[in-house]
Amino acid sequence: MIINDTEFGEVIVRRSPLSRGVKFSVSTSGRLQMSVPKNTSDFLAKRFLNSNRKRIREKLPIKNPDEQRARDYQKKILMKKARNYLPYRLEYYAKLYGYEYSKCRLTHANTRWGSCSSNKTISLNIGLMQVPEPLRDYVIIHELAHLNHMNHSKAFWNEVGLHDKNYRLHEKKLKMLSPGV
Ligand SMILES: [Zn+2]
Repeated sequence: MIINDTEFGEVIVRRSPLSRGVKFSVSTSGRLQMSVPKNTSDFLAKRFLNSNRKRIREKLPIKNPDEQRARDYQKKILMKKARNYLPYRLEYYAKLYGYEYSKCRLTHANTRWGSCSSNKTISLNIGLMQVPEPLRDYVIIHELAHLNHMNHSKAFWNEVGLHDKNYRLHEKKLKMLSPGV
């Protein structure tokens, strides 16, 4: 359920069989997120929200409704750009260097630029569309190398180094940036 709140904008209410009490957090879009026990009524959820207003205001970095909408819009544009680019770029490098992956997934988590799962799915963050091309390509090469090494061993870095001589610099530069949109 979404509560449209005059102060916090859209508030996401998640009913979970696991939650015993009410927990407040911030979603990646900067929206307030409430997790409540499964049978909590809408009425009660709103009451919880009202009685915790002051605490939320003081403790949680909620974006205002305008910022929430602006971010949604920006994310949509970025997703569209990413969809038309990242899967093709990945395919290009995979073919060039002889890698086989099973699927390309686009993500927008705040924490990682990319990942490679044991079933050979490569995930790439749409935030890559906002970084310089050499860094973007580095992430793709990094994840492709994980197809052969599911770790960050010396052998893994050697393989990355074969396809990106400046990988150390690129890794360092990426660490200073955040993939969050
Ligand atoms: Zn890695």
